[in-house]
Amino acid sequence: MDAARLASRVNLLGPWLRRVMGGPARKISLDPGLGCPHRPEGVGPGGCLYCPPGGSGPGRGGTLSEQLEHGLDRLRARRGPTPRALAYFQAYTATNAPAQVLEPLFMEVARHPAVAGIIVATRPDCLPPATWELLAELARRRPLWLELGLQSAHDATLTRINRGHDVACFDQALAQAHARGLRVVAHVILGLPGEDMGHTNATARHLAQGGVWGVKLHNLMVLAGAPLAHEHRAGGLALWNQEEYARAAAAFLARLPRRVLVHRLAADPGPDRLLAPGWAADKDAVLRAIAQAMEEDNLRQGDLA
Ligand code: SF4
Repeated sequence: MDAARLASRVNLLGPWLRRVMGGPARKISLDPGLGCPHRPEGVGPGGCLYCPPGGSGPGRGGTLSEQLEHGLDRLRARRGPTPRALAYFQAYTATNAPAQVLEPLFMEVARHPAVAGIIVATRPDCLPPATWELLAELARRRPLWLELGLQSAHDATLTRINRGHDVACFDQALAQAHARGLRVVAHVILGLPGEDMGHTNATARHLAQGGVWGVKLHNLMVLAGAPLAHEHRAGGLALWNQEEYARAAAAFLARLPRRVLVHRLAADPGPDRLLAPGWAADKDAVLRAIAQAMEEDNLRQGDLA
């Protein structure tokens, strides 16, 4: 119901998947065990402020092929014998290795007959030339998109959240992707420290001008073990309430061209990881609030693009 309310105003990923893949497709989250160059476990300078110890999408362990088969078994149990699977290299930074190390990992997955598409999530500063060539080759074998973290189009904010790269770095990666015909989904967080709707609207305009293929949004969350949890405990952190997030998301979407695919509007942090804000635990309520904000302001995606 909420999805239908949103779908009438927002260009959501689900209908695109059904059109292009001939039916619903489901993600299988994979962890190739590459870690993240920006995290403290390696040589990184402490990680992004909001990133918990497990990273953005910790895997379940086992080899890549075991992870894939386990995910396919679960899909078959729920969706029937021939599910359409999207292999999602989600954990940490999926290109954090030389291309010759990545190549067998990516190709093993691309060769699997049940894999209908591939998603690679990474940082814009972790894409050397040989990796771009590998991604382009992969995209010739399967539909593929890159998820690139930007979070905000404001350098001061990126410094504040310790992203370790600037906006220009993201823009350069986007240009590299476009030069090879690769699709890019930008990851954005609304409600970052020091930001208001003026900032988030400017981020939407920046992405619209850059020509991203898709966006993923969620609100700023405090997750257990993340550096942000210390600030939260000390009491100095102002988090948006649900209505503020919904209004900002509606305004953000209005500034994106209608062609941009919206992959996500609310996160699924899991009750054991989420410290604040409590409202973010109810994803359906968040989607409902965004639909309501768009209806009340009579906004559709692209209205202010
Ligand atoms: S959010 Fe991503 S890039 Fe940032 S520290 Fe975590 S895994 Fe690394």
